[in-house]
This record gives sequence, structure tokens and C-alpha cells, in this order.
Amino acid sequence: MADLSTQSVTDIHHWNDSLFSFKTTRDRSLKFENGHFLMLGIEVEGKPLMRAYSIASPNYDEELEFLSIKVADGALTSRLQNIQVGDEVFVSSKPTGTLVVDHLLGGRNLYLISTGTGLAPFISIIQDPETYEKFDNVIVTHGVRYASELAYQQFIQHDLPNNEFFGKEVREKLIYYPSVTREDYTTQGRLTDAISSGKLFTDIGLPQADPKHDRFMICGSPSMLKDACEILDGWCFEESRQGIKAHYVIERAFVE
Ligand SMILES: Cc1cc2nc3c(=O)[nH]c(=O)nc-3n(C[C@H](O)[C@H](O)[C@H](O)COP(=O)(O)OP(=O)(O)OC[C@H]3O[C@@H](n4cnc5c(N)ncnc54)[C@H](O)[C@@H]3O)c2cc1C
Repeated sequence: MADLSTQSVTDIHHWNDSLFSFKTTRDRSLKFENGHFLMLGIEVEGKPLMRAYSIASPNYDEELEFLSIKVADGALTSRLQNIQVGDEVFVSSKPTGTLVVDHLLGGRNLYLISTGTGLAPFISIIQDPETYEKFDNVIVTHGVRYASELAYQQFIQHDLPNNEFFGKEVREKLIYYPSVTREDYTTQGRLTDAISSGKLFTDIGLPQADPKHDRFMICGSPSMLKDACEILDGWCFEESRQGIKAHYVIERAFVE
């Protein structure tokens, strides 16, 4: 278990019956890029039970933060959802992933398209001051079934714009676009429908997406990723592979 460290849980927040966030201590030696994921787990029957988790905290933070689903019969999360402050979790020492801003060509507008826990890596990316240096507009979208799943809404709308170091850039550049599919809400419907119909761009007052100046980072359910890639490919956007800079990057938020 040389590549696993043991960390203590320092804070837990339950958003609703299906989602919770928690913070842990962090080894100073753990380096990662904002948008990366790592393996996280607990001991079950004497062995580590590990799953991939996006890091929601920025890489300059002293602690690590994660946003987790609660799967009722999930091997890990049926247990992990009961963790308490002071409990120990395992964290791998080699974060990785494709959702990094450096894999994108320069551009004007950065679209962060997420469903469910796919929001997690973008919570890290929107706390990175460099994100605002590189783009004129940063659009963070979050598609969920019920409004109670709009985790971090208060943080995005109120805390981040008042950040003492880069709040001004957030106020000038960050656009938040939540969308709910299964109950009444100000913005309703699937994000991929809002992208393909052009509704997203009209709603936020920006031009129709164009590979010349728009960049996309996508994280969510396998079906959302498939639909989003089809739309972007049809508009001549190219996906970054093996770190070669291109117009968009994707990461699965989970495997089915
Ligand atoms: C690159 C990557 C990053 C990930 N990041 C996160 C993260 O930040 N937060 C997180 O909660 N999970 C994340 N996951 C999923 C995570 O690895 C586990 O699947 C999840 O913690 C559930 O574990 P489990 O053992 O309880 O159930 P599993 O046996 O792993 O999953 C059971 C079933 O639950 C469903 N499911 C699993 N994860 C999710 C999810 N996140 N949202 C909706 N349905 C799901 C799927 O249908 C799956 O088949 C990520 C997965 C990948 C591949």
C-alpha cells in the first residue's frame, strides 16, 4: 500500500439523501492539477476498498475536498456516507486525469459542462485564479434531476464572488447555469438539449459555440458525455487526446 496515505476526515456536509461532501487532511507531498481525480477509499474486511474521486478543492488548499454520491447498495458509498469527523480514509498518492485547462488551446469562453457529481472537478477549476487569466468568460453548468442536488450553489453564487484574492475576476467572468430535469426550476431540461438547440448560449448572452474561440470541459454520466461529444464533434470541435491541446476534454464522473 505504498501509494496510499491515510488521511483524517475534518468536515462533512450532507446536501440531501443522495449527495454529500467531505474534507480530509492532505499530505504536503501530494501534488495535483486542478481537475484531477485520485483513488479514495476505506478499509473493508481488512483491505482497502478504493474508487476514483475527483478532487473538488483547489491545489493550493491545505485540505482535500470531495463530492460523493450515496449509492444505497454501492460497495464503497453505502459505507462512506456514514463517515464521521475524525474517521480515516485512504487516498492514493498519484492524482491523474484529462480535465485540465492546460490540455485546451487558448480561447475566449470556457464552458464547464457537468451533471451530478461531475461538478466536483469544476469546483476546483473555478477556484484557480489562472482559469480567469486564460479566459474572458467561465461558464459553469450543472445538470441535475432535483434542485436539492445543486450542490455548491451558495458557494458559486455568493462565496466565490467575494473571495478576497480573485473575487473581482469571478464577478466579471463566472457565469453559473444550473439546470433541473425532474421538477420546476428557473432553468429546466437536459444540458445537452440546451447546447444542441442553442438555448444555453442565448440564455447567457454569448454567441453560438465556435471552435475558433470556445473551449469545453465535460464531466458527467456516460450518456451525457456521449451526447455532448456528438454535438461538439458535429460542430468541428476536436477532443484533446494524450495531452495534445485541442478544443475540448472529457472525464467520466462514474462508470456504468
Ligand atoms: C474518473 C472518475 C472520477 C470519479 N469521481 C467521482 C466523484 O468525484 N464523486 C463520486 O461520487 N463518484 C465519482 N466517481 C465514481 C466512483 O468511482 C464510484 O463509482 C462511486 O463512489 C460509487 O462507488 P460504490 O462502490 O458505492 O458503487 P459502484 O459499485 O462503484 O457503483 C454502483 C453504480 O452506481 C452508479 N454510480 C456510481 N458513481 C456514481 C456517481 N458519481 N453518480 C451517479 N451514479 C453513480 C453507477 O450506475 C454504478 O454502476 C468517479 C469515477 C471515475 C471513473
